[in-house]
Amino acid sequence: MINNKPRIAIYDFTDCEGCETKLVSLREKLLLLEKKVDIVNWRLGQEYFEAGPYDITIIEGAPITRHEVDLLKELRENSKILIALGACAALGGIPAIMPEKDRKYWYEKIYTSQYAPRGIDAVPLSAYVKVDFSIHGCPIDENEAVRAVEELLAGKTPSYRGYSVCFECKQAGNPCRLLENKPCLGPITQGGCGAICVSGGSPCYGCFGIRDEANIPALRKILEKFADEKEIERYFSMFHSRTEDFNKNKEK
Ligand code: SF4
Ligand code: SF4
Ligand code: SF4
Repeated sequence: MINNKPRIAIYDFTDCEGCETKLVSLREKLLLLEKKVDIVNWRLGQEYFEAGPYDITIIEGAPITRHEVDLLKELRENSKILIALGACAALGGIPAIMPEKDRKYWYEKIYTSQYAPRGIDAVPLSAYVKVDFSIHGCPIDENEAVRAVEELLAGKTPSYRGYSVCFECKQAGNPCRLLENKPCLGPITQGGCGAICVSGGSPCYGCFGIRDEANIPALRKILEKFADEKEIERYFSMFHSRTEDFNKNKEK
């Protein structure tokens, strides 16, 4: 059980800050939450900050410089609970799409060979430190963030939804893309977003992370019926180029 008025810190590494913007958009809910917690460090949301240790540290973004990696390790040491906020932090996400060889090409093309890049490969926070829970999404669903923090405040371990995006997609009444020979990663993706992309006419690219019991080889077999390897790779590499589950199942 966490102390009364737990101290929360919100940090960001390299990312677009879209997930933090979702937290800001909570407005009244955030103010209500602030009656139960002290947000003592949040660069994007307030001017004052207090040093650690913290009860809960929420981190958005992927660490892509040595300085960010060192800060991540320091925050882990100074936090009872560490939460990854959004796909960049939980999966490597968008910053992880480009491999090092391609980065080198674009660095040179854009900044000339005089530029000395400091960037390293973007990988999930969990590649460096223990992550206690991930609030998934690109961007996150802000209500899922509130749910996770409230469960922690109640002394519980937050849980993931017990269903895939397909369940929410069926609830929304969408026709299934796979039955129309269109790719979709819904069957292997953790639910919680309400199948927002599919309802809006787009495929699911899996930003909520891969479900524990996901059968990736089975989905690949279905996709292979109507999509070539390059297209399948494009889907899986959108958010999962650096996630262990995808890479583990790649050869099957
Ligand atoms: S997960 Fe998506 S919305 Fe959130 S910070 Fe990363 S790129 Fe931005
Ligand atoms: S469209 Fe995608 S998310 Fe919806 S049921 Fe089919 S596979 Fe699942
Ligand atoms: S439908 Fe898929 S890609 Fe879209 S928000 Fe949900 S999990 Fe992410």
